[in-house]
Amino acid sequence: MTRREARCLGPYGGDVEDTECGEPARFEVVRHRRPPLLLCPVHLGPALLLAEGVLWPPHIRLIG
Ligand SMILES: [Zn+2]
Repeated sequence: MTRREARCLGPYGGDVEDTECGEPARFEVVRHRRPPLLLCPVHLGPALLLAEGVLWPPHIRLIG
């Protein structure tokens, strides 16, 4: 297994210190003028509401 696993950035998309989650990411959420959010199932919902720059309605892609 050499595939690099994307890790969840947590409910704030890594913008708030010590809130990164580290679980394997399953979803990618498009953001305005920011890198996409990588999220696990637990943090998908919170991040849509808490992270900066999330488009509304959200653009979500399954990655894992
Ligand atoms: Zn997570």
